[in-house]
Amino acid sequence: MSNINSRSSVVLCMFTSEWSDGTVITTPGTYDTVTGEVTPEVSDSIPSQDATLEEEYIDVVINGESCRRTVCPECHEYTMNTEGIDIPGHLTYVTSCPGCGYEE
Ligand SMILES: [Zn+2]
Repeated sequence: MSNINSRSSVVLCMFTSEWSDGTVITTPGTYDTVTGEVTPEVSDSIPSQDATLEEEYIDVVINGESCRRTVCPECHEYTMNTEGIDIPGHLTYVTSCPGCGYEE
């Protein structure tokens, strides 16, 4: 029997979403530091129906350091990954989702 939590790359995190009506929902979840996959626990609180999602992020401790990572606004399943791409002449940073490929 395989246990997903036995993977050493999976750590606990706090998943937060902020809505346009001022609702802030924080729920515990897990975060895979290798793939960037976020799995929040189901939350009871829901914002009002016409509220739109403004920001979604996780707070996680990796190697003893607390970090905040933005969650992909498209699939909500992965954190955005920032990579430096060296185009001759200048270094450009591209932020993209490893899950669905969404780019900021
Ligand atoms: Zn995505």
